[in-house]
Amino acid sequence: MLGDVVVEDGRIVAVGVEPAGGAGIAVPGFVDLQVNGFGGVDFLAAGVEDFRRARRVLARFGVTSFQPTLVSSPVAVIEGALEVIANGSDGAGARVLGVHLEGPFLSVAFKGAHDERHLVPPDLALAGRLCAAGPVTYMTVAPELAGGLDLVGWLVARGITVALGHTDADAATAHAAYNLGARTVTHLYNAQRRFTARDPGVTGVALTRADVTVQVIADFVHLAPETVLGAYLAARGRFLVVTDAIAAAASTAGDYGLGDRTIHVDGTAARLHDGTLAGSILTMDQALRNLVRLGVPLAAAVEALATVPATLVGRPELGTLRPGTPADIAVLDDTNHVMRTLVHGQEAFARG
Ligand code: ZN
Repeated sequence: MLGDVVVEDGRIVAVGVEPAGGAGIAVPGFVDLQVNGFGGVDFLAAGVEDFRRARRVLARFGVTSFQPTLVSSPVAVIEGALEVIANGSDGAGARVLGVHLEGPFLSVAFKGAHDERHLVPPDLALAGRLCAAGPVTYMTVAPELAGGLDLVGWLVARGITVALGHTDADAATAHAAYNLGARTVTHLYNAQRRFTARDPGVTGVALTRADVTVQVIADFVHLAPETVLGAYLAARGRFLVVTDAIAAAASTAGDYGLGDRTIHVDGTAARLHDGTLAGSILTMDQALRNLVRLGVPLAAAVEALATVPATLVGRPELGTLRPGTPADIAVLDDTNHVMRTLVHGQEAFARG
């Protein structure tokens, strides 16, 4: 639902009210499930104040909640980052939904920008140690690895949202993981077994199973526009957009860290020096405009940026403008740029 709203005590109390005139259109604030860093801050290296600052910068782009995402790294580095995130989640800025651990139980064959030295086989003791070290609510795993399906079941039993990604899983293995309670796929098409005519892999399974949510990086660098549109048309209502942003997002071009890797960033893409894509510099408002440019109706685009991701991670009240829900709101101008952002009714951003 879009339109004018009335907010009291941090909650929405009325929607569809008479427009105030020239004030833009209110939409549910954006929910980004994959953010490695933002505004010059890398979440693997950040201190508590840097992390808080990145949360405030995210709000400038309409993001009202997000999952800080940690790529495969030495265990001590992940534990340190989890502590910073736990301590830096208070105060103004986008809400922290919980941490997305992207790894370390991933396929070497589809490692993407992950450092192979930090990839390890599924290990329930290590998974338990990582999940105990901070607010981990979500993990990307490669189910075809030895012990991978056991890991999926173990995580699901603990209420952790499981995504399949950086994976060489064939269709049968993907179905087995989804039957065990995995719910989604990390950056569809990127860093997974190629979808071909007789070997659809996790890509084809995710696109065609009604109980699986499909995620894409809609920067038109990771995927061609037609590929994004095809995924939307196949999976409407269970299709969502992430940025996979790194520290360079909402910052300047140059070299940036992603854990212990160096990423070169120009005006459009973030790459390792060998050319491998390494996260993005996409912002959620730009992703919205990209979907709209493909002909996706604004309401459906907002659903993909807010309603579907909030619902996937068990927080449906954060992806809607229904009365009674927390007032997490982005206000857009008529070119779909963000004018104002409210988190729990508090102004987190207002364009000057
Ligand atoms: Zn990835």
